[in-house]
Amino acid sequence: MEQLKAPQIIRVNSPVLQDAQVALWVQREDAIHERLAGNKWRKLKYNVLDALKAKKTRLVTFGGAYSNHIAATAEAGAIFGLSTIGIIRGERDLSNPTLQKAASLGMQLQYVSRAAYRDKNQLIQELQLESTDSMIIPEGGTNLRALPGCAEIVRSSPLAQQVDYWCVACGTGGTAAGMITALDAKQKLIGFSVLKGNWMEAEIQKCLSLQGDAKKRHKWSVNNEYHFGGYAKFDQRLIDFMNNFKKNQDIPLDPIYTGKLLFGIYDLVAKGYFKPGARIVAIHTGGLQGLAGFQQRNGGLLDY
Ligand SMILES: *Cc1c(COP(=O)(O)O)cnc(C)c1O
Repeated sequence: MEQLKAPQIIRVNSPVLQDAQVALWVQREDAIHERLAGNKWRKLKYNVLDALKAKKTRLVTFGGAYSNHIAATAEAGAIFGLSTIGIIRGERDLSNPTLQKAASLGMQLQYVSRAAYRDKNQLIQELQLESTDSMIIPEGGTNLRALPGCAEIVRSSPLAQQVDYWCVACGTGGTAAGMITALDAKQKLIGFSVLKGNWMEAEIQKCLSLQGDAKKRHKWSVNNEYHFGGYAKFDQRLIDFMNNFKKNQDIPLDPIYTGKLLFGIYDLVAKGYFKPGARIVAIHTGGLQGLAGFQQRNGGLLDY
């Protein structure tokens, strides 16, 4: 197994935090390894280990054109000697930096229409992806093997026992679910959904049930207030916040996940959500590979 660095944890200072007398750290999961980093690697780890153990030779997975999960699967395959197939939703786009990188790492890309992409089981049959050599991993990487990897986000934290609140962005909820399984009795997790709607809590609950962990009395909740209109939607307030955060803390965020997470935490702090003395850790889940594509599509909105 490749050596991962223990995640760095960076104390963030700002007048908002000082006024509320809370302490905030950012756990740099984006920097635990040069290439295998972020929550998408945490989620893949036990998939890859099991694939190797079962002598499989291929990872097959699904994603959108700028997907962090597609990028991470391509990296993992290249590093561990597994071939990779990425089934991509939408048209072939040679200017897309995520897909260029994935292809350069040897991932075989197959483009399918949005309509066809919706029915994964049908796709698996049609493209004859099922074979004893292949491990098929769902879009976003959330499956049962993803949970123990994400529990390690909590277990490997330099602050592990001293945290009151773990805060993490949620797309499928798999990362939050894995982390929840590792909480101790005094700790609470808040998942910040990056999608519009109120169903993230049920998704996390589903993951916990699969793990047989649903009945344990872990303390967690989902905040649905900081999606900025939906997945990958944003506005100038979010961009300004991210540019300021980069300037003041020297930590780059991405507009889809960690930007919304930190914006939400700052807003809750300003509204007095956390009691004085609260110790909060925000997980930097990575996703910076997507910035090149974002800047390309949006004329360099971010001052990175
Ligand atoms: C995918 C992703 C998330 C969300 O993870 P889920 O397990 O799908 O909830 C958060 N942050 C980043 C950077 C991601 O790429």
